[in-house]
Amino acid sequence: MFGAVIHAPGDVRYEERDDPTILEPTDAIVRTVAACVCGSDLWRYRGLQPIPQPTPIGHEYCGIVETVGDAVTAVKPGDFVVGGFLHSDNTCPTCRKGAHANCEHGGGYKGCQAEKIRVPNADGTLIATPGVPDDDLIPSILALSDVMCTGWHAAVSAGVGPGSSVVVVGDGAVGLSGVLAAAQLGASTVIAMSRHADRQEVAKAFGATHIVTERGEEGIARVKELTEGIGADCVLECVGTDDARVQAVGCVRAGGNIGLVGLPHGDLPVNDLFWRNVGIKGGPAHVRAYLPHLLDLVLSRTINPGLVFDLELPLSQVAEAYAAMDERRAIKSLLRP
Ligand SMILES: [Zn+2]
Ligand SMILES: [Zn+2]
Repeated sequence: MFGAVIHAPGDVRYEERDDPTILEPTDAIVRTVAACVCGSDLWRYRGLQPIPQPTPIGHEYCGIVETVGDAVTAVKPGDFVVGGFLHSDNTCPTCRKGAHANCEHGGGYKGCQAEKIRVPNADGTLIATPGVPDDDLIPSILALSDVMCTGWHAAVSAGVGPGSSVVVVGDGAVGLSGVLAAAQLGASTVIAMSRHADRQEVAKAFGATHIVTERGEEGIARVKELTEGIGADCVLECVGTDDARVQAVGCVRAGGNIGLVGLPHGDLPVNDLFWRNVGIKGGPAHVRAYLPHLLDLVLSRTINPGLVFDLELPLSQVAEAYAAMDERRAIKSLLRP
């Protein structure tokens, strides 16, 4: 089979790799129907994280189960399935609290931008759809593998509820998904911070009530104008850089909450936040906890998170999928084997 392998910054190749096989009785082998490139994959592509040796890459997928190990009971060959960017057993004490990203027996995959993948902990990771979904639903189902659940996690972590005022920092696929999550959770004011017209359009389609194009102090001032002069109840920080974190801290009101899902590349002024009674929560999304509800919303066509994909390519053109996202010609690239 073929799949993507990252050799060095800027060098992702479509290569022949060994077919994955069942190694544990709890494994499934899934033939991918769609995979995609993540903003977090770009950290290595841009040389910001080391690549000690050529490494299969990718962690978002949906597909058809091909084979299962002897202990797998929840899915069977032929099922259309989606799973999160981390696998989980869904049975350990931590999973039973809903903190699946921190499963005691969980972990990642060996490169999901591939024709076939091995999914450990299949019963606790994969969810099967009733029948094979319509083709136009595939992008939205694939979005549940990471970005939509990550945006949802930001909103849940920030305590978004009916009537909340929300600021979303970051207009990448996760930030846009955070806008959709905030609107779904009942926020009455959803402010998307974005300077790109195409991303602003997606944000509005997802339920943004206001767009703020300014950044820094000007951006904070605009947010305060929209929130009775005090800042937002909830801020979703979906980037992780120093600038984004400063923006988030400036936009939250006293007593509000910040939901963090951007991979952390900066510090937070914890002491300042203490005096302002600001809550901080976040981390990698508990995909398996959110997946059943969000899959229902997708299958009933209540939400359409697949709008974040604005480029679709054959898996064999994975190198171009990376280049387009790196050069910001695409928000997010979908790949079909
Ligand atoms: Zn991802
Ligand atoms: Zn677990």
